[in-house]
Amino acid sequence: MLNLNQDPQIILWALTKDTYWHPDDHWQAVDRRCKELSTGEIFAVIDDIVHHFVHAPVVILTGKNVWQREDFDQILGKMAPILPSAIALNNPRLSHAALLSRWKDLGLTSVYLRLQNPRTLHGRQTVALAEAVVDHGMRLEIMTAVTPRTLPWLPGLADLMLSVGAASWQLGFNESLQRSKLDAKTLEQTLVWVADFAATSPLRVLPIGAPQYQRIVSDRYPLLDAGRIALREARGIAYINHHGLVYPGVNLPFAGGNLRQSSFSNIYRESPTFCALRDPRPLEGRCGFCDYHLTCGGSRTRAFRETGKLYAEDPGCWNPQTA
Ligand code: SF4
Repeated sequence: MLNLNQDPQIILWALTKDTYWHPDDHWQAVDRRCKELSTGEIFAVIDDIVHHFVHAPVVILTGKNVWQREDFDQILGKMAPILPSAIALNNPRLSHAALLSRWKDLGLTSVYLRLQNPRTLHGRQTVALAEAVVDHGMRLEIMTAVTPRTLPWLPGLADLMLSVGAASWQLGFNESLQRSKLDAKTLEQTLVWVADFAATSPLRVLPIGAPQYQRIVSDRYPLLDAGRIALREARGIAYINHHGLVYPGVNLPFAGGNLRQSSFSNIYRESPTFCALRDPRPLEGRCGFCDYHLTCGGSRTRAFRETGKLYAEDPGCWNPQTA
């Protein structure tokens, strides 16, 4: 069985400067100054991942126009035959369809596309690209950010996911309640809907940024749950930025280390930042005494962004047992 303290399940790796929000001005300035990892440095990280983890994680390549890196084909050619590899197109365009055959020949197995509203021009182009991904025999993974705007469309989007042949649907819950404009109760009701849909759907549905989904699935579908542990920061998930800083999550501004000074496996398993985030003992408030503190533990990113405290209770959780 996969031990998430030892082996990550998903590594999001920005090979070029990424487009994610970064909360800290200091780090934004550092990001601007630092050089992207070289081909040799990237190869060393790939070798480390292949040789040190028992279960190979899925590596999702991302970053602004990542495929335009001069050495992108070389990197993919090295990585894809030995690690489950995917590319995330944060701003998918139809022109990407022309690249699919080449990526497939290099061994890429999955493509992540972001789809919010299929009725816009951009949404229609994304659906056309999604169909091209499936036509190429690649795994199609769709990401949708859950907001008050997308909320009413989720059932329609679910039908669309099935009709285009998506293998998985990732629903992103912003870790800032203010930015997402979703309160804890709406978040709970949405996750209940997701759990009920996922229980009978062939689609793999994965909420991101909402570890309390684990509690909801355990309560509603104990037979399906089988003692699973929610993926969250440093526990199954890691994010590498373009100059080699390894973070426990995309929006948590505490790097566990730098790949120019340490190996990825060492940072993931041994760095004080990663180890501390996996430790359930300091959890405070409702997360501290919740029955699910070991299998959920709350979003540490949301706790930090909403309260400034890493171990505070997750304010996005509306847990009737602890409310
Ligand atoms: S109270 Fe905390 S540990 Fe319990 S389900 Fe909610 S987020 Fe998870």
